[in-house]
Formats: sequence, structure tokens, C-alpha cells
Amino acid sequence: MSEDAYLACKPIDATTAAVLMTKIRASVVEADSGCLEWTGALNKKGYGITWLSKSSGNLRVHRVAYVAAKGEIPRGLVIDHLCRNRRCCNPEHMEVVTLSENSRRSAQTFCRRGHPLTGRNAVPDPRGGRSCRECRNIAARKKWAEGAHLRRAAISPQEQWGMK
Ligand SMILES: [Zn+2]
Ligand SMILES: [Zn+2]
Repeated sequence: MSEDAYLACKPIDATTAAVLMTKIRASVVEADSGCLEWTGALNKKGYGITWLSKSSGNLRVHRVAYVAAKGEIPRGLVIDHLCRNRRCCNPEHMEVVTLSENSRRSAQTFCRRGHPLTGRNAVPDPRGGRSCRECRNIAARKKWAEGAHLRRAAISPQEQWGMK
């Protein structure tokens, strides 16, 4: 986030956040990743937005969720989505960092497991970032292996009905 974009973010106090949380909860679904994804309105950058009243202006949903769970965001600091999912409002997936740390992280060329996020390994992410092909493959293999375990454990309908 640029300095200008940061300054455009209104500070959110705990009372406002608490009031908005009741409204927000109704539009959040849990994804397999553990992300709590906002299903309501998004701004141009893909961040969820909400508002207290027509005159209050837009507030970013993830910031509201963070303030409600962990307290007000100290001035000069921004929220970094550790999961890289801008729609996510799971406070456990966020970290409060300085602006410069935030830009350093978004310029990162390695995924969290240390695979290079360049060339063929960098898959453009619908959320606007880059995701790691190697990590996706690891996740897919894991899912398949879990499925195989379930397939082995399943008994046939014939066995179930005592036909064998
Ligand atoms: Zn998340
Ligand atoms: Zn990776």
C-alpha cells in the first residue's frame, strides 16, 4: 500500500468495529484455507468494504475485523495479510506492520516455504498476487492422499448390506 492509500484509510475505533461486526459476520464464509472470506462489496483493489452509515464513507472490512478482535491499529501501521487473500478477515491471518515492512513483503520473491516466486513457478493469483505452483502441488498431493485413505477405508454397499 502506498503512503497516499494509507492516509486514505480512516482510523477505526473499537466501538465502531464492535457495531459493524454484527453486520459483517452475516457476509463471511470460511474457506478450506481457514480464511474467513468476505462475500460482500469490494473496492477496486479487491479489499472488502463496509460502512456504518451513508455519510461514514467506506471502511475496509479486514481492518474492522482486526480492530474488533485485537484492538485499535496504532497510527502509522498497516495490516499485512499473511494469507495474501485480500477478502480474508480472519484476524489470525493478519499482522500489523510498518508501511515499509509491508512494501518489502509485497515485493517478496519467495513463497513462505522458500520456493522462488518467479518464472513458471509463479502462478498469477485472482486476488492480485502471485501464488506458488510448488506449494499448490504439495497441497493437491496431500488432498489426493487423504482421499485415497478414505477410499481404502470405505466398505462396499454389498458388504454394508451383508450380501458378501
Ligand atoms: Zn486468510
Ligand atoms: Zn511454495
